Amino acid sequence: MLKRNVAKEQLPKERIHNFNEVSLGFDEETALKEAARCLNCKKPQCVPGCPVNINIPAFIQLIKEKKYFESLQKIKETNLLPAVCGRVCPQEIQCEGNCVLGVKGEPIAIGKLEHFVADYVNFNKIKEPVIAKSKNNFKVAIIGSGPASLTAAADLARDGFSVTIFEAFHIAGGVLMYGIPEFRLPKEVVQKEISFLIELGVEIKTNMVIGKILTIEELLNEFHAVFIGVGAGLPQFMNIPGEDLSGVFSANEFLTRINLMRAYQFPIADTPVKIGKRVAVIGGGNVAMDSARSAKRLGSTVFLIYRRSFSEMPARIEEVHHAKEEGIDFMILTNPVKINGDEKNQVKSITLEKMQLTEADNSDRKVAMAIPESEFDLDVDSVIMAIGTKANPLLTRSTVNLELNSRGNIKVFDEYGKTSLPNVWAGGDIVTGSATVIEAMGAGKKSAFAIKQALLN
Ligand code: FAD
Ligand code: SF4
Repeated sequence: MLKRNVAKEQLPKERIHNFNEVSLGFDEETALKEAARCLNCKKPQCVPGCPVNINIPAFIQLIKEKKYFESLQKIKETNLLPAVCGRVCPQEIQCEGNCVLGVKGEPIAIGKLEHFVADYVNFNKIKEPVIAKSKNNFKVAIIGSGPASLTAAADLARDGFSVTIFEAFHIAGGVLMYGIPEFRLPKEVVQKEISFLIELGVEIKTNMVIGKILTIEELLNEFHAVFIGVGAGLPQFMNIPGEDLSGVFSANEFLTRINLMRAYQFPIADTPVKIGKRVAVIGGGNVAMDSARSAKRLGSTVFLIYRRSFSEMPARIEEVHHAKEEGIDFMILTNPVKINGDEKNQVKSITLEKMQLTEADNSDRKVAMAIPESEFDLDVDSVIMAIGTKANPLLTRSTVNLELNSRGNIKVFDEYGKTSLPNVWAGGDIVTGSATVIEAMGAGKKSAFAIKQALLN
């Protein structure tokens, strides 16, 4: 009762040679055993821990009764993307982090149960009803197609609004498609969730870079409201010498080539990626883990370089665990100083320095300080920078009177994402900076609510 049931996984020695999903999920028997552990608490602490307040005990109760379709519908009352969230949400600090069973033992594996019901309904081809109110006369334009936009689009379409999504890439899904690798989130799963939107009548226009092809002003001539969910996809660099050498990638470029352009299937897919035999990945978040594990699958020896210690690492615990199992060489308390090139301007090594953590600063974060004279060189032929991203200014710069904060994110004036422009709302990473899938979905939901209120009243 105190121990949770564990989902099967591909073995590390096998999975480092393929991009197939690592977690094989619960089978029915294990899902039923895990669901049986849930106490169906009167005051369930898991629910306030979920940013979109899924009725967790209710969906688990339906699993206990083997009503899997109904269980999925219960989740979908508040969460459009259960197959995605079950796989990538940081449950350990959200719902599962609050589960009462976690006090004396291990919390319910809520994420794995969510993953199970979504896949069960999908793989058994149980048809979900598409329920939407009859069309009203209002048209809403949504810019970007990440989780914030998809959620806003679904909520509006269900309530009878005509919704058009404008996406810059050739395929919808945002980071779910171009950032998070196949071995954590199969692209088929993402597209299946998106197909539900199309059935709801949402129109998706791809290859539409708003700010270049059309402006927000032009969209407002045709649409009654606009939601901006363009994410924060502009890569950041460290500004150290050598970042312009051949062999230095941003994580964004590297992962986009792999996930969206399927470079790992080259020459079947026609976009190659030239990655070296020894690769340094800089950073300690999910993006760094995804880059390191992708490089490993392409056959490289991978060093993950992080300036603080394991306890400060922002990546999900499960991802760090998987990366360790896969043989990523973690070099913690280590910081890059410069990248060194050969006569052809190709990366040949990286100079690193050792770090130590001192007392916490005002933000309660321990300060990482370089240890004097601790520099050393590590031979590598590629470097992937995964130290974070910021807002891409392409759309915001081309939009007159759209107020931004000092970091270049769109400034919003209430919890619903109202911007400085009339009839324009914004949500997700473009407002908060890099955050999580579920937080972006929560923001999309709130803006959809505000758009409905504004247009219908
Ligand atoms: P995005 O998902 O960034 O989507 C924005 C979309 O807008 C993109 O498709 C982009 O092409 C499009 N766009 C941009 N500009 C324009 C324009 N001018 N015109 C038209 N379209 C435009 N979160 C988790 O919860 N768990 C994880 O495990 C996790 N892992 C991650 C791994 C990686 C590699 C990355 C990069 C992020 C990860 N995140 C994770 C964070 C999470 O994916 C994001 O917080 C979330 O996707 C943000 O959603 P969004 O809708 O705001 O924007
Ligand atoms: Fe079940 Fe844990 Fe939620 Fe209680 S807190 S209802 S045990 S998942």
